[in-house]
Amino acid sequence: MDPVVVAYWLLPIVAFVLFLGAYTYFVYRRLDQRATELSKRREAAIDRESGSVVCPDCGAENDLGYTYCRRCVGELPGGANHRRTGGSPARRGIV
Ligand SMILES: [Zn+2]
Repeated sequence: MDPVVVAYWLLPIVAFVLFLGAYTYFVYRRLDQRATELSKRREAAIDRESGSVVCPDCGAENDLGYTYCRRCVGELPGGANHRRTGGSPARRGIV
């Protein structure tokens, strides 16, 4: 086979592989940016001054220390590090 003909055959394949690589790179970069944005939003949602957490999914205010939202049962930011300074619910006047 003529090497020039082989080169013409390879050209679209090489172009496709290059396009695929660039596409994958940009998709991953966008996903990474989105994840960073989301984690920033979750951090900002924690309002430690008022002792409440705003749900990132539905916007409902929840008391600090809860893992799940009381309205939509979505996972709340900072739910893992419980802050138990108020004592029992009865002592805080909840019950
Ligand atoms: Zn919610």
